Amino acid sequence: MQAAAQIARSALRHAVDFALPPRCAGCGCITERQGAFCPDCWGKLDLLGPPCCARCALPFDHDEGAELTCAGCLAEPPPFARLRAAVAYGELARNVALKLKYGRRPGVAETMAGLMERHLAAFDAPLLVPVPLHRWRIWRRGYNQSALIAASLARRRELELGRDLLQRIKATPPLMHMSPAERRRVVRGAFHVHPSHRDSIKGRNILLVDDVYTSGATVSACARLLRRAGAAEVGVLCWARVIRGED
Ligand SMILES: [Zn+2]
Ligand SMILES: [Zn+2]
Repeated sequence: MQAAAQIARSALRHAVDFALPPRCAGCGCITERQGAFCPDCWGKLDLLGPPCCARCALPFDHDEGAELTCAGCLAEPPPFARLRAAVAYGELARNVALKLKYGRRPGVAETMAGLMERHLAAFDAPLLVPVPLHRWRIWRRGYNQSALIAASLARRRELELGRDLLQRIKATPPLMHMSPAERRRVVRGAFHVHPSHRDSIKGRNILLVDDVYTSGATVSACARLLRRAGAAEVGVLCWARVIRGED
């Protein structure tokens, strides 16, 4: 029922989105096509790709082979097999993410998915799973931004979508300004696998979809849980990845 209401509300907002003249997903100026960036904003986006760490997509200065990992991943391998992100987190990438999250612009999910799509080649026949929001947040916001992005990606490539596979059972405070240890502690026990989906995870390659990757505490907690539940491999695909420092 809740899911149906969420879809209905998001469909209505999609309709409102598309009835308006097309606007740049970055600055809001009028563009030719719905979901496009104006040339100015396009030039400001820092698209990510090789050469980068094979595990966490941290950009490298030189191409040292597709399988090389960064010092951080070597010292403490993340619980996910590999992460890919469309763009580096910066002012513009942040504004786009905020428009989707708080600006009631669900159509922006299509723009983000459009730039994330090329990275799907790095993942083998994945089952897409959005990082869940707590139901209170969904209720307030009307939708889960990661679920909208995951649904768009699934539609574009005809991939399977596990929309309600993961659930957030603990409402967590914003992780900004917390130390990595605090973040890990806060998200511990925050997620669970919906009982009706337990069998569909076993032996599958799962791709977690999220908007912004900062410290990785949230997706790491989800990845650990999915692996314990029997997933063969867990990957992460996000819109923007913080490259240095915290946001
Ligand atoms: Zn613009
Ligand atoms: Zn790395």
